[in-house]
Amino acid sequence: MILEKERFGDTPSPVLGATAPKNPVSLHSIAGSCDIIEDNLPEEHMSLTLIDRFHPDLRQKQQAAIDAGHIRKLDELDLLDQQRLYSLARLSVLTLGIGTLFFAGLNIAAYYWQRHTLIPGITGWGFFIWLLLNCLSYVVILPLHEVIHGLAFAFWGGKPYYGARLPFVLYCSTKGQLFRRNQYLVVGLAPLVVITLAGIVFTLLAPALAAYTLFGTIGNFSGAAGDVWMALRLLRQPDSVLAEDTEVGYRLWEIQNSPELNSPDRNEQDAEL
Ligand SMILES: [Zn+2]
Repeated sequence: MILEKERFGDTPSPVLGATAPKNPVSLHSIAGSCDIIEDNLPEEHMSLTLIDRFHPDLRQKQQAAIDAGHIRKLDELDLLDQQRLYSLARLSVLTLGIGTLFFAGLNIAAYYWQRHTLIPGITGWGFFIWLLLNCLSYVVILPLHEVIHGLAFAFWGGKPYYGARLPFVLYCSTKGQLFRRNQYLVVGLAPLVVITLAGIVFTLLAPALAAYTLFGTIGNFSGAAGDVWMALRLLRQPDSVLAEDTEVGYRLWEIQNSPELNSPDRNEQDAEL
């Protein structure tokens, strides 16, 4: 779950109609739209498994409803859409700029605070090693980012798997497994929060060493643009929706005809967690 694109359903939705906009859409309008897609193909929910280790009784009831076909698809996003990639690239450039200013600024400030000088003596070899280790840190942070997604999936009870779309896109996914909206939000934002916080602490404690991992922390910050975008879009949905990661984005589902099954908070016997 890195980036996303929106798939406009074959059947015109009440929101989009038959003439979905073909022009590049602004970030705001994409993040803000909540399109209902009615092409709920039967085979898509045949093998869906609801994941929620903290509400076993409610999970069982909802799984029965899913197995009975009482579920419909609300939305689907796919990162490979060219329109979406263009907008996401712009957001990535913005977060790259913000991340660079923030981490480089923090690094310089922390270095000055510890050593009382701004620039250490830099040789040609020193610069080469700095560049090499930074490139290495960037390469290492990519799988680490996905592993943190995976650990978060596993925390909720999911069974993540990993893959790559060569040459450089890695992913962690749980296709066929449904997570509650808020749990999926935690999964989506975990690498951004964990690695950014770790980077800040590392920079404050050891700014001289942290200068060699700048590309990694900045790259993670910038690369999480899709995760943030997805989170903003998800937040506009009710917390009762169920999210299925699809390697290239997500599908959102809603259990039908059973309002009491749609929120763990309404279920007293599960309320303690
Ligand atoms: Zn991610």
